[in-house]
Order: sequence, then C-alpha cells, then structure tokens
Amino acid sequence: MTTGKRASIVDSRRIGQMPPAHSGSLQAPTGLLTDLRGRPLRDLRISVTDRCNFRCTYCMPKEIFGKDYNFLPQASLLTFEEITRLSALFLAHGVHKIRLTGGEPLVRKNIEKLVAMLAELRTTEHAPPEITLTTNGSLLAKKARGLKEAGLSRVTVSLDSLDEAVFQAMNDVGFPVAGVLAAIDAAQEAGFERIKVNMVVKRGTNDQEILPMARHFRGTGITLRFIEFMDVGSTNHWRMQEVVSSKEVLARLQAEFPLVALQPTAPGETAERWGYADASGQYDPKLGEVGFISSVTKAFCGTCNRIRLSTEGQLFTCLFATQGWDLRGIMRGGATEEQLSQAIADIWHGRNDRYSELRASLPRKDDDGDGPRRIEMSYIGG
Ligand code: SAM
Ligand code: SF4
Ligand code: SF4
Repeated sequence: MTTGKRASIVDSRRIGQMPPAHSGSLQAPTGLLTDLRGRPLRDLRISVTDRCNFRCTYCMPKEIFGKDYNFLPQASLLTFEEITRLSALFLAHGVHKIRLTGGEPLVRKNIEKLVAMLAELRTTEHAPPEITLTTNGSLLAKKARGLKEAGLSRVTVSLDSLDEAVFQAMNDVGFPVAGVLAAIDAAQEAGFERIKVNMVVKRGTNDQEILPMARHFRGTGITLRFIEFMDVGSTNHWRMQEVVSSKEVLARLQAEFPLVALQPTAPGETAERWGYADASGQYDPKLGEVGFISSVTKAFCGTCNRIRLSTEGQLFTCLFATQGWDLRGIMRGGATEEQLSQAIADIWHGRNDRYSELRASLPRKDDDGDGPRRIEMSYIGG
C-alpha cells in the first residue's frame, strides 16, 4: 500500500453512473420487481455515514483511515429528507426491511430523527417497514431508549471477543469489552427483542474466542452470529488463510454443545440458523440459537434480495460492486418521484450480480491489483 496523503480511497469511489434514461412511459411501481435472475427486491441497507469511532483492522485499518483520510464532506451526505424520500420509493417497489449502517450509524447526528421519519413510511402491505440498525455499540447505551421510542424495530451489535486484549487490538482504539456489553444490556432494558451480536472470525486473531462467546450468549435470548472474514473493499489485507469457515466454527461448537439446524425465518436470509438442543436432542428455544454468515465459503447470491444506498446516495446492487448508480445526482438534478422510481426499477431489472458465487474464478482485486477497486464496507454499509 502506498503511503502519504490518503486520497486514494476517495478517488477509487468513482463517480457513479447515471441511471439509464427512460424513453418510454413511466411505470407505476407494483411492489413486485425482479432482477435478471428472478430475485425480488426486499432489503434496503443505508449507510448513513462513512465515519466511525473504531478502526477495526478488518474494516477501517488505521494506516489507511488515519488523520489524513478524506471523509465525505457534510454537503455530500444525503439529508434525512432525501433518505426518506428514496426509502418511500424503495418500499413501493417491494422493500420490507431497512437496515441503517455505516460507518458507525450512531455517530450521525440526530439519527433518532431519521428513524422516526422512516417509521412513518408504509410497505405495499400498508405496514411500517422493519427498521434495524447495526452498531459497534459504543454509543448505544446512551441512545437505546431514544431509538426505541423513535420506532427502531431491532438492533445488531458487533463484538468480536470477550477478551480485553483481543477486542481492543481488533477495534484498534482501545474501546473496552465492558462498554459493548453495557450497550447490549441497555438495549434489552430499552425493550429491544431479538438482539443479535455479530462476530467476525479471523484465524489467529480471535478464533479462540468462538467458544467463550458462545458460552456467554447461550441462554440469554441474544443470537450470536459468526461472520466469515470477507474480502470486501481493498484495504483490509484479506487472505483466505485467515478465513475460518462456518463449517469449522460449527464443528468447534458441536464439540461442546448439541446443535440442530433450524429453518430460515425469511426468504433470502443471510444467516444460516442453528439451535441449541436439550438433553433429548430437540431444539430448546430457552437456550436460543446461533447464526452463520458464510459469504466466502457458501455463497447465497441465489436469493440475494438486498440493495445498498451509500452515504452520498450512490446505489449499489452488490456488496462487492466497483461502481454505483448516482441517485443523488438525479434527485438533486430535479427528478420527479416517477423518474426516480423508474430509475430504481430499471437498475434492479438490469441486476445480474453474484460476486460470491463467482469469487473463486475471479482475479483478486487487492491492494496491488490494477483492476477497479472495490468499494469499502464503511462507505457502502455492511
Ligand atoms: N459500525 C457498525 C458495526 O460495526 O456494527 C456498522 C457497520 S459494519 C461495516 C457492519 C458489519 O460488518 C459489522 O458487524 C462488521 O463486523 C462487519 N464487517 C466489517 N468488515 C468486515 C469484513 N471484512 N468481513 C466480514 N464482516 C465485516
Ligand atoms: Fe467501524 Fe463497524 Fe467498520 Fe468496525 S466494522 S471500523 S465499527 S464501521
Ligand atoms: Fe448479494 Fe453480491 Fe453478496 Fe452475492 S455477493 S450475496 S449478489 S451482495
């Protein structure tokens, strides 16, 4: 990696393409959009900021995201009104679930206000959308109650280890484990149910924490999810040797706990579910469940119903995309609701992404590669 002024990642975001101009008459949304592979649109992930108060080594390594790094200026960010306007159009096209992410979504000022605005929207079934948020937990203890009152449905908290030294080395800003555990408690006290904890597993870094984490959360009503270390972005020094497959994690868990496979709760769900079993070998809901997100070893592109809106209003149809569609550009250029709606429909209709399925056969576009850089996870949202 080159050193010096950190403009390279910003430059690599590329200016988005303009959505295809529609020459025919504009179609009213039907809530039934499908892409070229017959996949419906259901899940919208919105990155509300590219900033974060952590420097997780697998996501925003300090040597890249340092003091000199050019984060987006305020004027580039979609406003809450713009996010809400676009979200309403996505809901009309079939989205049921909105996930707020980043960066660290809780560093965006007045995020509760955005949650309240989104909670006013309705799906095609006239129900409020499910609104979820993924956070590193550092600001959650303070904000949990306000978020709940604003209408947030669920929360996912990231925590990679219970061991102080390991966790602080991974978040790289010295944030303590106790701070995240207190945030999870505060979320429970505020009334959040079905809380999830995300643990990214890296071999040689925190894989010894798989069992302690499972022991800690088993029977608490919190679902621990193991995430395979992904080759997202271009700066996290991803190496296949550091990926611990879900299969291996499951085997390590099964050495201590009996687990049974559970059915998905919704089509296109990213995590495979396994439940802790009782002495008779049956799933025991009191012991709860774990999840596995296996984007490296077991691609789930076939049912991928997710679309991502970046902090500055670029629309990405895949987490591993190298280029987005400039929705902000057409919105600020004066597009009508019908034109924006049609642009979204045309983009989804033309979608053919299945990066994880093709991963093995593609050249790796890493730090030293000369191909287009992938978008960073902190920019596009996890
Ligand atoms: N800052 C928030 C957080 O950490 O929860 C939200 C944004 S973060 C990008 C969303 C999720 O992506 C987190 O659970 C994080 O651990 C995960 N993540 C980030 N980089 C990853 C990588 N290279 N591989 C797998 N998961 C990753
Ligand atoms: Fe920040 Fe989340 Fe990325 Fe960690 S994973 S650096 S907390 S955005
Ligand atoms: Fe969806 Fe792209 Fe991930 Fe496949 S690689 S599951 S298409 S985001």
